[in-house]
Amino acid sequence: MPINENVSDLFGSKVFNSGVMRKRLPKHIYASLLKTMKEDLPLEENVAEVVANAMKDWALELGATHYTHWFQPMTGITAEKHDAFINPTEDGKVIMEFSGKELIKGEPDASSFPSGGLRATFEARGYTAWDPTSYAFIKGTTLYIPTIFCSYSGEVLDKKTPLLRSMQALNTHAVRILKLFGKDDVKKVTSTIGAEQEYFLIEREMYKQRKDLILSGRTLFGAKPPKGQEMETHYFGKIRGRVAAYMADLDQELWSLGIASKTRHNEVAPAQHELAPIFANTNIATDNNQLIMEFMQRVAYRHDLACLLHEKPFDFVNGSGKHNNFSMSTNTGENLLEPGKNPVENKQFLLFLCAVIEAVYKYSEMLRITVASAGNDHRLGANEAPPAIVSVFLGEQLTAALKSIETGKPVSEAKDLVMELGVNSLPKFIIDATDRNRTSPFAFTGNKFEFRMLGSNQSISGPNITINTIVADVLKDYADILEKADNFDTALDTLLQNSVKACKNVVFNGNNYSDEWVEEAARRGLPNLKTTPEALAEFTSEKNVKLFERHNIFTPAEMDSRYEIHLEEYIKTINIEALTMLNLAKREISPAVVTYTKEVVDTLIAKKACGDAIDISAEATLVERLSKLSGDLIKAIDALETTLAGVKDCDSAQAEANYSCEKVIPAMETLRVVADALEEIVAEKYWPFPTYEDILFYV
Ligand code: ADP
Ligand code: MG
Repeated sequence: MPINENVSDLFGSKVFNSGVMRKRLPKHIYASLLKTMKEDLPLEENVAEVVANAMKDWALELGATHYTHWFQPMTGITAEKHDAFINPTEDGKVIMEFSGKELIKGEPDASSFPSGGLRATFEARGYTAWDPTSYAFIKGTTLYIPTIFCSYSGEVLDKKTPLLRSMQALNTHAVRILKLFGKDDVKKVTSTIGAEQEYFLIEREMYKQRKDLILSGRTLFGAKPPKGQEMETHYFGKIRGRVAAYMADLDQELWSLGIASKTRHNEVAPAQHELAPIFANTNIATDNNQLIMEFMQRVAYRHDLACLLHEKPFDFVNGSGKHNNFSMSTNTGENLLEPGKNPVENKQFLLFLCAVIEAVYKYSEMLRITVASAGNDHRLGANEAPPAIVSVFLGEQLTAALKSIETGKPVSEAKDLVMELGVNSLPKFIIDATDRNRTSPFAFTGNKFEFRMLGSNQSISGPNITINTIVADVLKDYADILEKADNFDTALDTLLQNSVKACKNVVFNGNNYSDEWVEEAARRGLPNLKTTPEALAEFTSEKNVKLFERHNIFTPAEMDSRYEIHLEEYIKTINIEALTMLNLAKREISPAVVTYTKEVVDTLIAKKACGDAIDISAEATLVERLSKLSGDLIKAIDALETTLAGVKDCDSAQAEANYSCEKVIPAMETLRVVADALEEIVAEKYWPFPTYEDILFYV
């Protein structure tokens, strides 16, 4: 793709968006589809047939030969199966066809996707169904149709259906609230998400030489390099040529898919970068984030690079996360978390603010669960990401506003503060009411909340299903009370006051990375679910099951199945990592140590033959150290193998997960320590794979 192509022509050029629809669909069909997209009204019957045909013609013009239903099963990545548009004719030729039925419904085999016991393998049938609220697009020679995925009997098997349901729940109750504020023109409220994506970019050659990166996404061995991120030169540092070329290429690809990739910069760790798109409605943002992750890897390949999306590809430097910026917006264009000039007087804003705070307070375990994964366990609480304790940062101004609600005493009106830099030629600007707090897991940042606990690798769907649902739940309670009130204003004041009093413990503006906060949070009674197994154990608590059932997001059976799927994913991840370590230790590290030791021993023998006057202490010491460590290595290998074999004696998935966490991971750590100590004394040319230094500093 030529880099200088006019960006506004390029943008969305591969998307069947409303502009294309307006041009290519009959007026009444377009109007009807728009109603479905904008107001959640059911799709009218004849619409699909016409849309399918227009979509096909458009896709053929852009070189497509196939179409696919594109869905998001519980694997956390996307799934697709391509079908050609071809249909044979009697004269031995084909015509290109695509029917309304094919647009609306697909029938992939459901038995090979995770279902957490919801499906027996013999019950294979699954359905995909068109999601008209997310645009179809072209990738390569295929038309991609965003769809949901469910089983023959209607159980949800994907990450999109519940997301759409949660958006609907939020919409229902937010619109009820806005009616009470006299906003009858508001027909729809959507949650909006901007997901900042962190990633590492390394040389493809290096990647190919590391089985651990290929099989588990992260390095399972690797001694501390002489230099890490301590010089603080990488963050926002100048973007080097190859990386810049990669980023430019990536932006072009994303723009053509209508993804508004906006910000690109170097991150804290060496070889680490970030991309942030402009926010979109949650459904679209979720689809887009999947495409962003996919194209990050695809484009890297083209540039002889490898993109690592794992939460912790390297020890000793920061891992990667995903900041999930959340707000709610009306079809009339109002951001419901926009405080305006004087937030203290802005009751509608305060209501939505309190609703989010209350939601986080009440369901902090569920929020924590949505970011629990084997990869993310390396980050949360490790002084580079928020701790596993969920709290809310508000900043001084809003904390004062809440105080005023709680006490009923007014606060002085906020005045704009002007930045004075002491240089006349520099422009004056108004400074934000509060400084940023980079350590908070759930921070108010001006006109949105930023949930910062997500791992870089995960779908943003799970966290947003929960955020939408818990906020909807609180808004429902508020609406139930306020709709019945005789006097709206006094009822609202009382409601907000009660909410602030009940939930203020979740607000924390200090340093979330500090040990004092861990103690303070315990005193406040905030949950601290440190590991994935610990967090998942709460997944199907009565409170959580009832919550999702109440809003028709998940049935109790679907909750059970998801609990099972997440546990399995954790257990399998640790198992793959442990097996990869064993493979590397036995087949690469140990042989390298043997070969090197032999060379040192040969030297030692040769020197000894030269007579007693020759000092052989260096070789002797080295052989001694190598031998000691290789003995330790074998012991650690055996110990890990024995420990790993113990998994099968566990009597439940939860027990297996706990065992993996408490027994297998420490055995892996022991093996790593020994291997890393060997890396530090074995000659470079004998070491079987690239070291951290080789990988992190040369792109
Ligand atoms: P920072 O790195 O300082 O947190 P960025 O500018 O990199 O900020 O990212 C902020 C993200 O928040 C962007 O994706 C932006 O589009 C998104 N955002 C801004 N306003 C909203 C909103 N109302 N709803 C959701 N996301 C938003
Ligand atoms: Mg951020």
